[in-house]
Amino acid sequence: MDRAEVLAKQSKYLTGISNYYQDPVVLVRGDGKYLYDSEDREYLDFFGGILTVSVGHCNPKVNKRIHEQVDTLQHVSTLYPTIPMVELAEKLAEITPGNLQKSFFTNSGTEADEMAVLLAQVYTGRSEVIAFRHGYHGRSQLAMSLTAHSPWRNGPTPVPGIKHAHNAYCYRCPFGLTYPSCDLRCAKDVEELIQTTTSGEIAAVLSEPIQGVGGFITPPPGYFQEVQRIVKQYGGLFISDEVQTGWGRTGKYMFGISHWGVEPDIMTSAKGMANGAPIGWTITTPEVAESFKGLTISTFGGNPVSMSAALGTLEVIQEENLVDNAEKVGNLLMDGLAELQKSHPMVGDVRGKGLMIGVEFVRDNKEPAPALTAAFLEATKKRGLLLGKGGLYGNVVRVVPGLNITPSDVTDALKIIEESLQEISVTI
Ligand code: PMP
Repeated sequence: MDRAEVLAKQSKYLTGISNYYQDPVVLVRGDGKYLYDSEDREYLDFFGGILTVSVGHCNPKVNKRIHEQVDTLQHVSTLYPTIPMVELAEKLAEITPGNLQKSFFTNSGTEADEMAVLLAQVYTGRSEVIAFRHGYHGRSQLAMSLTAHSPWRNGPTPVPGIKHAHNAYCYRCPFGLTYPSCDLRCAKDVEELIQTTTSGEIAAVLSEPIQGVGGFITPPPGYFQEVQRIVKQYGGLFISDEVQTGWGRTGKYMFGISHWGVEPDIMTSAKGMANGAPIGWTITTPEVAESFKGLTISTFGGNPVSMSAALGTLEVIQEENLVDNAEKVGNLLMDGLAELQKSHPMVGDVRGKGLMIGVEFVRDNKEPAPALTAAFLEATKKRGLLLGKGGLYGNVVRVVPGLNITPSDVTDALKIIEESLQEISVTI
């Protein structure tokens, strides 16, 4: 099927799928850090299927696991424990912070967050939940209600009992303050929100360590310690949504929240966990799990093929020291982008951790510049580099390559980014 035919069938038979580029790309093949389109053009992939392809497209070690599993046992449902499911659960108990030990598997980040909130509600016997402005948590009604930006919800927000605190957006501080003299005013907002808008008895506070779709908004040091202190004070549980920040993405640690030294009561993930195989995961402490007596069924949750893909992905991350690599190579990339920022005023902010880097595009006085961002993404694509987009105003470029990229890939990407910045500077 050629490109024109794919695009024609898309517009006739698909809904809810928009083309990322004005001149859409039809991708047909992936190999390591590269993607290939229907005309066999090669692209360096620095978006990784929205932070999903952690260890490169069609990674041979992950695919070997998948093939072996497909030929052995493809599916039975969560009604039965399987060998890959218990193997993965054991491994996850070892690599997660604190006392997280009991896993439940589903098929997406949305379901993982649903399960997390349910666990917190059953354990505490309460229903109210605090989430954060600019946060994204998925597509069910609960997850959309937790999500705090109306265009990402596409409609009304029917689930009551959810309130959104200000986020830790230092570049655009909601309180007009500057770190550290702000004394973490944004974290303290959580307490004010609980006191003023809830019954005072919350089930949970749920947060992404670094807000993903929101544009890689990265809280300052000390932030989550303060948030967790407040959650505890009000008798709730702290849920870390690691859908984007898990699996070494942020460098140094396997999970993003560890940068703040906080041990959550519940953690969720999906995306990069199985290198592209559908998966969702919720983990909690034995104490919280104990309160959850009911049988929960997810027909496809814990699918042996996805479990094996996750085991393979984790193996590659650990054997190839990719958490360290994400930190090292991420620093190179961050430094290179910060250097470009000096000569390109449209680059307002460069932020993130490890290989999760956001570049916020602005005009004068920090005015968000979504059109410039779109032009920049077209310019990088034309030169063979695929990047992501995010942010409330669609003006944040998300730079998220596979965890196994090399310094020379960083050099190649920075060259394209610089040329593209120059190209769009001329058009301003
Ligand atoms: N939480 C976060 C932080 C996410 O980024 C996403 C997806 N972008 C989700 C939850 C929902 O995951 P999914 O699309 O797999 O349902």
